[in-house]
This record gives sequence, structure tokens and C-alpha cells, in this order.
Amino acid sequence: MELKLNNSKRLYKIAERLMPGGVNSPVRSFKAVDGTPVFISSAKGPWIYDEDGNKYIDYVASWGPLILGHTHNDVVRAVKKAAENGTSYGAPCVDEINLASLIVKSFPSIDMLRMTSSGTEATMSAVRLSRAYTKRDFIIKFEGCYHGHADYLLVKAGSGATTFGTPSSPGVPKGFTNNTLLARYNDIRSVERLFSKYENQIACVLIEPVAANMGVVPPKNGFLEGLRKLAQDSGTLLIFDEVITGFRLGLGGAQKTYNIKPDLTCLGKIIGGGFPVGAYGGRKEIMNMIAPIGPVYHAGTLSGNPVAMAAGVATINKLREKGTYKRLNELTQSLIEGLHKILKKLGIKAQINSVGSMFTIFFTDREVFDYESALTSDTKMYSRFFKNLLSAGIMFPPSQFEAVFVSLAHTEREIDITLRAVYKALKETASRG
Ligand SMILES: *Cc1c(COP(=O)(O)O)cnc(C)c1O
Repeated sequence: MELKLNNSKRLYKIAERLMPGGVNSPVRSFKAVDGTPVFISSAKGPWIYDEDGNKYIDYVASWGPLILGHTHNDVVRAVKKAAENGTSYGAPCVDEINLASLIVKSFPSIDMLRMTSSGTEATMSAVRLSRAYTKRDFIIKFEGCYHGHADYLLVKAGSGATTFGTPSSPGVPKGFTNNTLLARYNDIRSVERLFSKYENQIACVLIEPVAANMGVVPPKNGFLEGLRKLAQDSGTLLIFDEVITGFRLGLGGAQKTYNIKPDLTCLGKIIGGGFPVGAYGGRKEIMNMIAPIGPVYHAGTLSGNPVAMAAGVATINKLREKGTYKRLNELTQSLIEGLHKILKKLGIKAQINSVGSMFTIFFTDREVFDYESALTSDTKMYSRFFKNLLSAGIMFPPSQFEAVFVSLAHTEREIDITLRAVYKALKETASRG
């Protein structure tokens, strides 16, 4: 069944003339699945509608933020009210306090925090702060982990960077990445080696506690504990990039799930409720190094924007209702169980990695526990699967190396529709393999 996509195709031609690849963020282009993007006209709950009148059950969720689904009533109401009062003040407002206290309440490791307008700014600023605090230059990041697009973090950076086979980017001078040390996810030895080679020179270990930008890769038992201990023993700060996992895995993020206390935490995505927001926070003594109290510079014209703050507050208040995560995780589990049954029935070799309400189907027969094993996936097969699924009205992420997100707006009904579509899509995918 071919989708009618005339309007999307026409719009894409215009967009390509105006923006590189026709998009404002590379994975949206569908290049990773050898396709052209659909243009979205509106969305409601679990459904997303395109410019040709097609509708899809959405599992991209704007790449993570929309845990309540699209245009949730509480969020829309809060945003309208905030916007009518004023869209930006460049001065403090009450919703900054409201969102900050909801975050502090949820994350025991965060005494104080600073809002930004993106996750990229949050990680960039947290790394700067860690360097200032420790008076050291080196940082450790992990192959396949993505922390936004700051120069020195674009080294084997997962997400779009993996998808397009450009692990680093031209335009980043060598000198900018000289202080970035690479370790392997789930391989504590690789971290130990760096700590002994660069003794007392490492400012921070920056990690996605559950990797979600090389597809979902959970930490093995003891891995995060090992990092915590190595950092502690060396006066190095442990930074959890919870831009995806914060409020996704639960109110306290991955640090609550795995019971590890990082020194600094980066947030984004869900805390903005669909608006451009990031945040970084941690212990008071560290955070007080930031201007205007301390010497570490950080600023933002739209940081703490009142409309974005209102969307975040409404989103987190909804998440705080009893049973939300239980429902979300059970629903995801039933989808994953259904997927396993289908894979088995069709004799297709694939791994499903999942934590909470996010997961990835890797088309490989190997266990996926790091970047290298993730790259054994058959991305051509994923592309066919993605396209067949899209034609059947299901929007999965347009890349093998991203997470599928279930939202609170999905119900058993959408899961049933999805599983029926997946069966057909996979059957077709395998037969043309
Ligand atoms: C999305 C993401 C970022 C970057 O956030 P932006 O808001 O896109 O700048 C950083 N870290 C992780 C783990 C992310 O998933």
C-alpha cells in the first residue's frame, strides 16, 4: 500500500531550497531511512496528521518530550494563559520557581539548577562548570552517547551523527576535541584505563545513564556504580545527561531507577513540555560557582521563558499523579511482548532493548550493549520496516539508532492497531529481504 504524499513532496522541494536538507535538525529528513519527510499539519494525543490528510500513531513524541502525548489539554491551557500574560520578560517570573522546585523535589541530587533553552546548552554549561570546579581540562564521554552539538562533544556522538556515518563533524578544530577522552559504554575497564593514564586531570565523566542515542542501551549491573566510585576517588564530577531519561523513567530519572547520585544532572525535553527548555543542576557548592554568584559565565535571553516554564510545570504536575509511570510502563511492556511474539512467529532475528517507556528494535542477532554492537544492526532492514510501518499509519523513529517512545496518550487500542501493522510490515520487510 502506497501512501499519498503529494503535498509533503511538494513542500519538501520548497523547504530544500530554503533550508539545508529541507529541515532544521538532520534526522527529521528521513535520510537515514532513505526517504523524504512527511510534513505535519497537526497532532492530538497519540495521533499525528500530515499535509496530505494521512494520520499516524506517533512513537517519536518530538524525540522524547511529549510524554503526555500531543496537545494535552492541561499543557495547552497553561501555555495559552501564560502567553496572554506575556511571552518573555527578560526578568524573573513565578513559573521559573514553580518548575525549579518541581525538579528539585523530584531529584534529590539537585539542590539548585539553571534553566537553558536546549539540552545542548545544558550539557555544554555543565561541562564548563565541572572544569571550573575541578580546575581540570579533560572530560570523558562514551562512544555512541549524544549530548547535543557542542564542538568538543561531537566525537562518536550517536544519534544523527551515527546515522550519517560522520562520527565527528568537519568544522571542529582538532584542538577543540583534544580534551575529550572516549570510553566504551558498559566497559568499566575502558574508563579505569583513562583514569590511570590521566591521573588527577579529569574534570568530569559525562554519560547518558541509559544510552538512548545509539538506540536504547541500558547500563549493565555495576557499570554506573563503577563510574560513581572512580569519579569519587579521583575528585572528578559525575554528570548524568538525563535530557531523555529525566521524567521519562520516573520522576527521579535514571538516577532514581539505578540509585546512583551524580554530582551534576542535565535535563531537557520533557521538562519543557514541548517547548525549548534545558536545565542543569546539582549540589549548592558547585552551582554557586555560576554567575552572578560565582565566576562561571552562563546566560540566555530566553532562559526561563514564561511560556516554556508553564508548559513544563503543567507536564510535570500531570506526571506526578498517582500511577502514571506504572500505566506507561505496563502499556509499553504489552507492546514489547507483542513485538517479541511477532518476531518469533516470523522467524526474524532482532533484539529489543527497553527501559521504562522507551525501547529500540535492533535488527541484529547480537546482544546490543554498546556502540559497536549497536552498529551490527541491519539498517537497510530497519529502513524497509520503517517505511512499511509508515504506510500502515505508524510513525516509528526514522533511524535505527533512536528510541521508540510510548506516551500516556497511547491506549490498548493504539497498541493493538500498532501490533497488527507491525505484523504486516515485518512480514513484508522479511519477504523482500
Ligand atoms: C536531545 C539530547 C540532547 C540535546 O538536547 P537539544 O535540546 O536537542 O539541544 C542532549 N543530550 C541527550 C541525551 C539528548 O537526548
